[in-house]
Amino acid sequence: MKANALLCPACCVQYVEVEFDFEVDGVILHNVKAVRCPTCKEERFTAEQYQAIRKRINIPF
Ligand SMILES: [Zn+2]
Repeated sequence: MKANALLCPACCVQYVEVEFDFEVDGVILHNVKAVRCPTCKEERFTAEQYQAIRKRINIPF
């Protein structure tokens, strides 16, 4: 197990990494990485994943 593994605070279950298409400001980003709790299905971004998204948004087409 990674030292920085994230636990869902509601379920105390380790999040699993998922990939999906994510729309932000009318722009669809494909294969965006996030983490999801396998129990309550809540999704969130880690700080790293959020940074990656911001970088992609700031790149002009
Ligand atoms: Zn949960």
